[in-house]
Amino acid sequence: MKLKRVLIVGGGPSGSSCGITCARGGLETIVFEKGNPYRDKTCGDTIPANQKTLANLGLIEGVKKRSFLVDSALIHGFSGERVEIRTPMMTLQRSVFDQFLRDELESRGGKVDYGVNIKGIKISDEGVEITDSSGLNYEGDFVVLATGANVSLARSLGFEYSDNPVFALRTYIENVNKLNSNYFWLFRSETNLLGYAWAFPSPGNILNVGVGTRGKDAKLKSKLENFLQDKKMIIGNSGNLTEPKGAPIRIGMRNALNYGSRVILVGENINCAYDLTAEGIGPALESGYLAGKALLGFKEGGDSLKDYQEKLVRKREEFYKGYSQIANLVRSRYGNKLFLRILNNSEKMRVTFGDVIQEEKPSKNIFPMQSLLNFL
Ligand SMILES: Cc1cc2nc3c(=O)[nH]c(=O)nc-3n(C[C@H](O)[C@H](O)[C@H](O)COP(=O)(O)OP(=O)(O)OC[C@H]3O[C@@H](n4cnc5c(N)ncnc54)[C@H](O)[C@@H]3O)c2cc1C
Repeated sequence: MKLKRVLIVGGGPSGSSCGITCARGGLETIVFEKGNPYRDKTCGDTIPANQKTLANLGLIEGVKKRSFLVDSALIHGFSGERVEIRTPMMTLQRSVFDQFLRDELESRGGKVDYGVNIKGIKISDEGVEITDSSGLNYEGDFVVLATGANVSLARSLGFEYSDNPVFALRTYIENVNKLNSNYFWLFRSETNLLGYAWAFPSPGNILNVGVGTRGKDAKLKSKLENFLQDKKMIIGNSGNLTEPKGAPIRIGMRNALNYGSRVILVGENINCAYDLTAEGIGPALESGYLAGKALLGFKEGGDSLKDYQEKLVRKREEFYKGYSQIANLVRSRYGNKLFLRILNNSEKMRVTFGDVIQEEKPSKNIFPMQSLLNFL
């Protein structure tokens, strides 16, 4: 099969990192983004300061210099216990972060078509044809689905998904108390599910604040209002700078084949966000990068799509499972106390947790069974 022109649907982190990789490798690359330049994306906007894919793409310094940098995360348990994890993080509004990536893509020879909402895909032995909402068709040899939590195009091609479990809501407020760490609070929802709230300092003396939880009946708006009221002493609250905006988050990595004939899934199309932290930007970047590499390998006639799938399976084992196990532990009152107590009592565990956040170590290392048994 000839592979010359790649069509990427979605100009978020996964679409851009895939596009940058393909364009650099000499493929004709077009990203279709339904939003306009600088479009907003509802997000907490925070990522590890040493995010590996940005480093691989040579973009880490460019992101760092635009971001608000902190060197620790303060995690609060159900009963107010607190633990500090020393780990560098950076926060940058997604309108700016995503535009930076799309501009990089264009500077490396790719093209971004803004305001194009793709509604249909046809795949045949000869190639791929996608259609936008005004009926225009675009042809290529391969399509990358990078549409985020909206997986209707992938579903239309037969990829299956279970219902989405996590919803989150965020707004921006002034950082009146000049916080300079990332703050997380864990809470239990009325339905005994794990919820979390956050306050992340952002550039421009702004705090990104939000709440997230499982379940559709999560009443997130009132949870956000209560959170802003309850934590007023810490985060300060001089009123919302923006309307609160909510969105689903696809977590836990799809446990199924993530490619097909002339199509590959990336980002939240593979449910790339982690359980517990709901961090999806880094994994979206990584999956896009790996998919781009796979497409370049495919061009050379290798079996690189299979390789892409195997890398995702390995990642699922090493990172996703560990986060899910911890999320299960901390949602019970006892488990929550235990989690905070172990971290507070063990410098080694805190360092390991920081390394896991930077992806220096797999998440299954946070609480190996032996450590739990030793502790008990
Ligand atoms: C409230 C909230 C807080 C979060 N906080 C964090 C956080 O602090 N850190 C973190 O790492 N992760 C966070 N996440 C998760 C993170 O936002 C996502 O995991 C990440 O954006 C996924 O990247 P993506 O490229 O897969 O999709 P997206 O970033 O969603 O990008 C998809 C793009 O595709 C475009 N698109 C969609 N459909 C079409 C179409 N049919 N045609 C053309 N274009 C289309 C969209 O406009 C969008 O630009 C949060 C999520 C939410 C909802």
